[in-house]
Amino acid sequence: MHLPEGGMAGIAMHELSLCENILQVLEQQAESQQYHKVKTVWLEIGALACVEIDALRFSFDAVVQGSIAEQAKLEIIEIPGQAWCTACRRNVAVQQLYDLCPHCGSYHLQVNSGDQMRIKELEVE
Ligand SMILES: [Zn+2]
Repeated sequence: MHLPEGGMAGIAMHELSLCENILQVLEQQAESQQYHKVKTVWLEIGALACVEIDALRFSFDAVVQGSIAEQAKLEIIEIPGQAWCTACRRNVAVQQLYDLCPHCGSYHLQVNSGDQMRIKELEVE
């Protein structure tokens, strides 16, 4: 992925919009699950999800101001990257997208874990 000049701002915007999505989910859940305060959010973040965790925490604190999640603690669970190597025919650990297979050097890897972010659990009241 090519980032334009001043790419850092672009990255922060990315995390900001992720946090806005998280807050949307929390507010939708609050309506259907009948809670009015979020105390803790456990967030699973894959190593390949291209999420900058410091930027995410910073954005989260900004986004939740004045919301039901204003006091919420953010717990991050990092999920390692894993891919299926079609040459070795086995799962291999990958550190970043477009890594080569650590065993055979093949680039025919299909990422099957660690490329997503999701809310795993909530503590609410
Ligand atoms: Zn391989």
